[in-house]
Amino acid sequence: MSQTHSADLVFFGGTGDLAMRKLIPAIYAASRGGKSMDDVRVIGCARQNLSTEQYHSLLTEQVPEFLGDSFDAAAWAALLARVSYVTVDAAKPEDFARLGEAMHPDVNRARVYYLATTPTLFTPICQNLAAAGLVTPASRVVLEKPLGRDLASSRTINDAVGAIFAEHQIYRIDHYLGKETVQNLLALRFGNAMFEPLWSRAWIRDVQITIAEQVGVGGRGEFYDNTGALRDMVQNHLLQLLCIVAMEPPATIDADAVRDEKVQVLRALKPYTLAEVQSHTVRGQYRAGAVAAKPVPGYQDEEGITSGSRTETFVALKAELANWRWAGVPFYLRTGKRMEQRLAEIVINFKQVPHSIFESSVGAPENNRMIIRLQPDEGLTLQLQAKTPGEGMKLQEISLNLNFADTAKARRQEAYERLLIEVIQGRLTLFVRRDEQEAAWKWVEPIMAGWDASPEPPKPYNAGTWGPAASAALVGRDGSTWPEES
Ligand code: NAP
Repeated sequence: MSQTHSADLVFFGGTGDLAMRKLIPAIYAASRGGKSMDDVRVIGCARQNLSTEQYHSLLTEQVPEFLGDSFDAAAWAALLARVSYVTVDAAKPEDFARLGEAMHPDVNRARVYYLATTPTLFTPICQNLAAAGLVTPASRVVLEKPLGRDLASSRTINDAVGAIFAEHQIYRIDHYLGKETVQNLLALRFGNAMFEPLWSRAWIRDVQITIAEQVGVGGRGEFYDNTGALRDMVQNHLLQLLCIVAMEPPATIDADAVRDEKVQVLRALKPYTLAEVQSHTVRGQYRAGAVAAKPVPGYQDEEGITSGSRTETFVALKAELANWRWAGVPFYLRTGKRMEQRLAEIVINFKQVPHSIFESSVGAPENNRMIIRLQPDEGLTLQLQAKTPGEGMKLQEISLNLNFADTAKARRQEAYERLLIEVIQGRLTLFVRRDEQEAAWKWVEPIMAGWDASPEPPKPYNAGTWGPAASAALVGRDGSTWPEES
């Protein structure tokens, strides 16, 4: 039986896109089919002047389309009965006094302040929460990404939030860490004896991590144009996935044991020289094209984009780790918008066998691959060599395929649902610690500086493709190919 949770969950940005698409649906999903969330109250906050009833109407208008088949009128009504609204301007201390009146009076009850607003409001919100006496020892603050634009700005925000909340009260979201498969990767690596002896430069040739989106910038053109793929995806999601693949076995699953190992990986990333930024990274920007057989405009023609923008919508890069386990093993990271397919996956390319016993006419066996899929479905594929049935000794590739949805009967949680429950329970393992985040910024900064200093704009690529040709060349130089080419 699931545990009963007690908490006040305050969503700053309660009328925003993230709240409508992810946060409220996550609470709805967690609340269905059980009583464990009956004592979790939600308080939405934003500047818009709404009564609780008007907020309910807004939620009822906007959220159900994101609930799909799971919408059930009775379950929705039961959720709304636990949802209220308080008008709060982040800059107005008096609004926080009103928020205090809406909170449960028990100071020992968990209070979760979820900051789903632009990061420029994180500091005033935390300061005003403290000034109104709303930060109790049982309070937690959840910070959405992106946390700053570089190391200096992330430090400024971390200092300001850290002046009010202790590090163990701060939950920095990277929703990729909430994905079932990412945790399954931990289970796979550290719950099985058979992978560990292979998991190093001795047997792994390279690692390729891809997060490809088919969508463009949507209604968030202005935000994206100020951000770009490096800050939006590489600094956080891709580097977090790299950490889980490359980390040493932690002593326990506790937050600090896991995060200590992840930060060691980030610190082992070799910093790029200016010349390496040119040779080891590719940035691109999409032109008009067709995605899923539908014509789409180029980046420069999207709403909210400054003319002549040099913001990258695609990044491919080759990272290396300077440590004993991984020295010399390339970690290729790649992300882009308007790609041919929507997919997120980690490909582990093992080395070829050291000596082939098969006749040269058969060719040396292909290398083994492990593919860990995070999107669109979650699963694992192991590509092995086997004998082709029939006469002679010919080899062929076979795939062992595991679709996680088929193997587990239990309902699968979405990332935001899992992460919200982890926050309510006070478990930090799936959240990013300050030193991890800052180590990631530190590694990314020379790339930003190298690109800024370069007269070359991002390389164009047609929407609906896998990015500029230079991306294939980046891996091709080392004798590798991206999965869609092999
Ligand atoms: P959004 O749709 O623009 O919503 C912003 C919210 O903040 C609104 O509820 C807005 O309501 C409120 N707000 C703005 N100024 C305020 C102020 N001065 N005081 C109090 N509330 C204020 O943004 P979003 O897309 O939900 O994104 C929120 C955060 O999550 C951002 O940091 C974003 O980068 C991050 N994020 C979003 C997504 C996503 O898919 N949307 C994904 C990952 C991360 P009022 O204008 O009424 O105040």
